[in-house]
Amino acid sequence: MSIVLATRNPGKIAEIKALLPGVRIRPAASFPGCPEPEETGRTFKENALIKAKAVARYTGSTALADDSGLEVDALDGAPGVRSARYAGKDATDRDNLLRLLGALEGIPEADRTARFRCVMAVVAPDGRTWTEEGVCEGRILQEPHGASGFGYDPLFVPAGYEHTFGELDAAVKNRISHRAKALHRIASVLQALPGVPE
Ligand code: IMP
Repeated sequence: MSIVLATRNPGKIAEIKALLPGVRIRPAASFPGCPEPEETGRTFKENALIKAKAVARYTGSTALADDSGLEVDALDGAPGVRSARYAGKDATDRDNLLRLLGALEGIPEADRTARFRCVMAVVAPDGRTWTEEGVCEGRILQEPHGASGFGYDPLFVPAGYEHTFGELDAAVKNRISHRAKALHRIASVLQALPGVPE
C-alpha cells in the first residue's frame, strides 16, 4: 500500500519512512500544486488534522500528517505548537535552538525538564479521521551535542539516557521517540485503509 505524507520536513520524512518499512510513502511535494495549509490550530491535534485533511482532499488518497513539538516546563510548555517557528516565520533549526538556549539561560539543570509531543493524523479518501499521540520525556542541555536528527535533537536528552537525540543512533531514537509511539498507535488504522492508486 502507499499513502501521502503531508509534511515537507526532511527529518520527519526520513524517520516516518524508517518507522513504516512496509508502506510506500509519497511526499505531498510529489503532487504538483498540493496545498500547504497554514497551521492555525491551537493544539498539535488540530494542526495535524488541518494538514492531513488538505492533502487527502487534494490527492483523493489516504493522508498521514505529523504535528509535533517541544514542551519545556520552565517555559510553561513553550515553544509547543510554535516549535518550528519559535525564532520567527522562516527560522532555521539553528535559529530555534539558539532562541531556546537564550530563553533557558540561568535555569538550572534540575528545572530543564521537557518533552517532545507528536500527534499523527490519518484522513481517509472518504473523509474519516483518526489521531494518535506519542510523548517522549527528557531534559534540555546547556549547549548542543551531536549532529544527527533535526530540530531540537542536539539539545534533548531522553529520560533514561545520557546523550542527546543528536548523538544517539537513529535506530535508538526510532525506538523511543514521540513520533515512533504515535505512529505505532496509528499503524493498524493505516493498514486497514485504501492506499494511493499506483
Ligand atoms: P511542525 O512541522 O509544525 O510539526 O513542527 C515541528 C517542529 O517541532 C520541528 O520543526 C522541530 O523544531 C520540532 N520537532 C518535532 N519533532 C522533533 C524531533 O523529533 N526532534 C527535534 N525537533 C522536533
